[in-house]
Amino acid sequence: MTLKKGLGKSILAVTFALGLTATSGLSSTALAAESSCATYSDGHHMYLKGVVTSVLDANTGKKLNNTQWAYYKCSGDGEIAVAEGSPEFKAQVGRYYTGASITKVVQGNLKGVNVVTVYVKSSQERTTTSTTIPGYKFYQPSQG
Ligand SMILES: [Zn+2]
Repeated sequence: MTLKKGLGKSILAVTFALGLTATSGLSSTALAAESSCATYSDGHHMYLKGVVTSVLDANTGKKLNNTQWAYYKCSGDGEIAVAEGSPEFKAQVGRYYTGASITKVVQGNLKGVNVVTVYVKSSQERTTTSTTIPGYKFYQPSQG
């Protein structure tokens, strides 16, 4: 299991590297899955796992968010993502980070709610007006 997870992460890192190179040329590559799931063939199954109160630049410590974001985790391989919007309710994703662009997650508990601070590589922030991220499926908490 640990081995599988490690493998997934290295595949993810490669995907991100390729994605970054491709953005300079073809905008249509954005439709391709941004990372593949080690467990599910139809993409990551993302479930809401907490409220992100702080999105911090991993290098400078600067706070990057003005509103609360959402924290998601794949029920299969544990891939994580944070998003400004609420794609699990078919709302616009907005600004987001996935996988290796999130360097650290600090979780706390506030009255039973998982409150999360994330450290991110701000240069890898993405944004979309879509309600999905290619390669990721978002489910409401009740569906998990
Ligand atoms: Zn997954």
